[in-house]
Amino acid sequence: MTLDTPSNDLSHIIEADRAHVWHHLLQHKPLETTDPRIIVEGKGINVWDATGREYLDAVSGGVWTVNVGYGRESIADAVREQLVKLNYFAQSAGSIPGSLFAEKLISKMPGMSRVYYNNSGTEANEKVFKMVRQIAEKRHGGRKHKILFRERDYHGTSITALSACGQPQRSAQYGPYTPGFVEVPHCLEYRAQWDVENYGERAADAIEEVILREGPDTVGALCLEPITAGGGVITPPQGYWERVQEICAKYEVLLHIDEVVCGVGRTGTWFGYQHYGVKPDFVTMAKGVASGYAAIACTVTTEAVFEMFKDDPSDPMNYFRDISTFGGCTAGPAAALENMRIIEDEGLLDNTNAMGARLIANLETLKEKHAVIGDVRGKGLFCGAELVADRASKEPVDEKQAQAVAADCMAQGVIIGVTNRSLPGFNNTLCLSPALIATPDDIDRITDAIDGALTRVFG
Ligand code: PMP
Repeated sequence: MTLDTPSNDLSHIIEADRAHVWHHLLQHKPLETTDPRIIVEGKGINVWDATGREYLDAVSGGVWTVNVGYGRESIADAVREQLVKLNYFAQSAGSIPGSLFAEKLISKMPGMSRVYYNNSGTEANEKVFKMVRQIAEKRHGGRKHKILFRERDYHGTSITALSACGQPQRSAQYGPYTPGFVEVPHCLEYRAQWDVENYGERAADAIEEVILREGPDTVGALCLEPITAGGGVITPPQGYWERVQEICAKYEVLLHIDEVVCGVGRTGTWFGYQHYGVKPDFVTMAKGVASGYAAIACTVTTEAVFEMFKDDPSDPMNYFRDISTFGGCTAGPAAALENMRIIEDEGLLDNTNAMGARLIANLETLKEKHAVIGDVRGKGLFCGAELVADRASKEPVDEKQAQAVAADCMAQGVIIGVTNRSLPGFNNTLCLSPALIATPDDIDRITDAIDGALTRVFG
């Protein structure tokens, strides 16, 4: 790979970064003495930094986004063609890629019907919150306005999304929060909160307890990740989702599934909830929708939800009075349509299931060798290994040690993630989500790097 960045420009780029760029999720003091990492190119599953170093990217762009891998010329071509034809028009009008992608997307989501375009996971979730509040106003005299969210789940970065945040590490210091959001307990069996046999059902019953405590006539919606991502890669225990669905039906609570991470192939089905036979009222998605080739997010609803906003045309307030300016950028659906074609034509869901099984098997083997691995979890190419100082007490390792494992992998040319156990200082789950094109060699290289890193950090 030849890089387009002449080396004499590199010091300029680094200086400009140091002087003017405020990075996401980063403490900046250390950057006064070390160079920022500047990623300049990507091809397939690999990326190169400005010094020419190659990395196998086991987290798809850092945050589980580049599902079909880097350097996809057909997506670039589709976007270019669309941009020169029509780059933008407000979504009060339709567009060719907007229509075609909505049709394609809905064909993969039986039971769902309408696509509302916006630009980020945060925004897609905010749209649902607004819809739920408006439904409460229209249908329930404002009463069914509360929205339940789960401990350890994350739904975005705005103040309202942080009001629905189960990760204090993200939400602390940004209050006061939007009222009307209520937390329910998490469902991670490894860190069981109830000593029972049917753990999944018990964890779901905890949601019912919250509904009863708050008053069913005040609760409008429940917002859950199908598999909790940043909160520690939490796969739901058996029986959990079935019971959640029953509870929502019983109390007329609308079910909102946040597929921002799991959506569009990541877990080996088009959507994470499809593993569990769930019938949501709302599904939100962002990251993998166009694999990061364009900014696009979707809020998808059933026809029944959509109908609630048009049942009385004589009422001038009876529609969803919302706009997302950049929801009208046509590059998004153009890229998303080609992204989906690639997943279908290249059989990437099958590959995700096969490579995901290999990744889990490799991690289980590492667990036999390294006592520091307390639990291995995952579905498809979305896996985590929780690190503990002691298997009996499940005391998490020091966050710095988990980060040292990631740094060691990076030194070996493999980028992995470390996710949070929801509290500041408790990042102890290694997170792996390579592109859906990963090969057996890629998977083995990732786990070999972790093997070496665990040996060096923990002995
Ligand atoms: N929901 C989930 C489950 C997420 O993981 C994220 C981002 N990591 C978001 C929502 C927010 O997405 P965005 O950063 O695009 O606003």
